[in-house]
Amino acid sequence: RNQTDPVLQLENINVNFDGFQALTDLTLNIGVGELRCIIGPNGAGKTTLMDVITGKTRPQSGRAIYDQSTDLTTLDPIAIARQGIGRKFQKPTVFEALTVEENLELALKSDKSVWGTLRARLTGEQRDRIDEILALLRLSNERGRRAGLLSHGQKQFLEIGMLLVQEPHLLLLDEPAAGMTDAETEYTAELFRQLAGKHSLMVVEHDMGFVETIADRVTVLHQGRVLAQGSLREVQANEQVIEVYLGR
Ligand code: ADP
Repeated sequence: RNQTDPVLQLENINVNFDGFQALTDLTLNIGVGELRCIIGPNGAGKTTLMDVITGKTRPQSGRAIYDQSTDLTTLDPIAIARQGIGRKFQKPTVFEALTVEENLELALKSDKSVWGTLRARLTGEQRDRIDEILALLRLSNERGRRAGLLSHGQKQFLEIGMLLVQEPHLLLLDEPAAGMTDAETEYTAELFRQLAGKHSLMVVEHDMGFVETIADRVTVLHQGRVLAQGSLREVQANEQVIEVYLGR
């Protein structure tokens, strides 16, 4: 597979909420293995865009072609998740009463069968996968700890791990570094750079310092449209972007 193949092709997406146009003719390609940052002021349509990709919001028109074959706008959220698309919301949602390891086990089994989830035993391969992810997220020493006792940043990492055990192709992350310490933010950037290539990532982010450390390409949304696209340097030099977004 070619690195420049698109994993996702959004074509002329329109979303209208009771007369309010949240996305207008939005066209956007994400390449396989790309790490794309989506930025833009509040109300620009970033969350709506993620909602369209994950099937939470159905657009009035347009297509979202995944893996050059499936139009996601025809599928429900569960079917979309099964296609290998994982989403992380800004606030971490882990099972606080379960251990770190149990959280990962549950995430690993949850896409298989609901009925077998609690009783199913892990294969050796699945065990190895969990060990690998614990190490990757620097949570190996916390594996037996209740998730509720983790720091905010560790919970964020655990939730990323819960996505990764399902081996997603495309990861959507909403402000993943929010509330993290500087060291945790730095490691998140390192982690994302490691994940890119194997996975495609779309990251909604406000922190420009963080965007600068992670992004190959940045898409700027404004009033439901793509205002600019390119490297962070390019979009920061774009006059329209300066005017509406950066305000300097
Ligand atoms: P962002 O994530 O960039 O801040 P959103 O996608 O959340 O922007 O919102 C884009 C616009 O659409 C906002 O003006 C918001 O008020 C509006 N909007 C979002 N969801 C709904 C909804 N369910 N009903 C009505 N308006 C909505």
